[in-house]
Amino acid sequence: MSEKKMIEYDGSCICGEVKFTVKLDEIPRVFNCHCIDCRKKLGGIITIIQLRENALKIDENKLSKYTHLGGSKNIITKTFCKICAAPVTTYVEKWGVSYLYAGLLNDVSSLQKAKNIFYKDSHFPFMKVNDDDLVI
Ligand SMILES: [Zn+2]
Ligand SMILES: [Zn+2]
Repeated sequence: MSEKKMIEYDGSCICGEVKFTVKLDEIPRVFNCHCIDCRKKLGGIITIIQLRENALKIDENKLSKYTHLGGSKNIITKTFCKICAAPVTTYVEKWGVSYLYAGLLNDVSSLQKAKNIFYKDSHFPFMKVNDDDLVI
């Protein structure tokens, strides 16, 4: 198996208490999530990056956790900064996959493309996306 080329980035929350490094693919898998959970948790759509296993180096002690049953009936665990409440990761138990909230990266220049998920369910009417950029 060939090693994928990964690039290391750093990031932090708004107050700076949470700092991390993360290894991402050259073309990261980026999603704009339009689901109701994100809307209720964060006030709007949110951009997340799918993480490979062990890609994120972070001090878990700085994070609060909130586990809930998602709209898709999946068990979801969200983490956020204990001090400023900035969202850090979301973990979908069914798939065993973690996502990083993209806005915490200090440099977002590699995030050239994003797909849209849960768009049909609950997007804001003013937000239009191309069919090509839709997943669900
Ligand atoms: Zn969502
Ligand atoms: Zn913080």
